[in-house]
Amino acid sequence: MFSSILGHRRLISLVSRAIARETLPPALLLAGPAGVGKRRAAMAIACAVNCLQPRSTSEWERDACGECASCRRIMRGVHPDVIVIEPGDTGSIKIDQVRDVVDRAGYRPFEGRRRVVVIDEADALMPAAQNALLKTLEEPPSASIFLLVSSIPDALLPTVRSRCPRIRFGALSPSEVAAALMRDHGYSEPDARAAAADADGSIGRALAAESADLTEARADARHVLEQTARAGDPTHRLEMVKELTGKKGSSAGERDQLSACLRALASLLRDLGILATGADRRSLANADLEPQLERLTSAFDSERSLRAYAAVDRALGALERNASPKVVADWLVLQI
Ligand SMILES: [Zn+2]
Repeated sequence: MFSSILGHRRLISLVSRAIARETLPPALLLAGPAGVGKRRAAMAIACAVNCLQPRSTSEWERDACGECASCRRIMRGVHPDVIVIEPGDTGSIKIDQVRDVVDRAGYRPFEGRRRVVVIDEADALMPAAQNALLKTLEEPPSASIFLLVSSIPDALLPTVRSRCPRIRFGALSPSEVAAALMRDHGYSEPDARAAAADADGSIGRALAAESADLTEARADARHVLEQTARAGDPTHRLEMVKELTGKKGSSAGERDQLSACLRALASLLRDLGILATGADRRSLANADLEPQLERLTSAFDSERSLRAYAAVDRALGALERNASPKVVADWLVLQI
């Protein structure tokens, strides 16, 4: 259902309106970063066009009910007219998988209003499979909709791309990622916020990370800010470095620990900038720490936050170029 999709409001609203007016193009390319909800949106489209009791709300002109027989079967993956194709064990989508839907596309839907073919990770279509699909995309049967989902759409053949209007999904905001982690994956708020702050707007990426380490990295980063807000004394500042690099034993572990901490630091400093300039608080990545961040704003005004953010960015760059974690951390604690 569209109402269960986090973020992408404007884009989903356009799609919802097109479905209500029956002007949705018969082939679409849902493109955008991995893990932001493209496949979920494709399934929501399949539900909305086939729902037996569609709803319209103030927000969505047409949305599925999520409860009727059709919605339930689509969500369980057993609706005969909603077909999902995805890469098999080999990592690619073969021509046989496509030929089957191309053959079926000529027939009317069994029970739904529209047959919906979702091709997930469409960039994995072998060139021969794309060519097999081409004729159907050129003259789509009126009762079928093809939804190609891809995070690397430019890997598709130009002939395929040109026949599918593109819907561009952007990254989610950290708050949206955190909300998804809490709602769908059982994260606690601190874990969700810490993971979301380091996920580049992708739920998939947040899920792939070790959330325990990120929660710790965020706590370390907060500690650094609280200490540097108070301590002007360089010796005292340099003592903190042990905490930032000393927990993992190995040098690779040291590097990972520091880099996670730096990314958390960047996210906290961005939030301090938001608080200092009075920008919209809904965009805070670490909204659960708002009171603690608020207390830091007396020390970190917008100028200092920005300067510290730039220093963190340089430190991350140095770390990527293989500088010693200890040297980088020493330099950084004196800069912020
Ligand atoms: Zn329904």
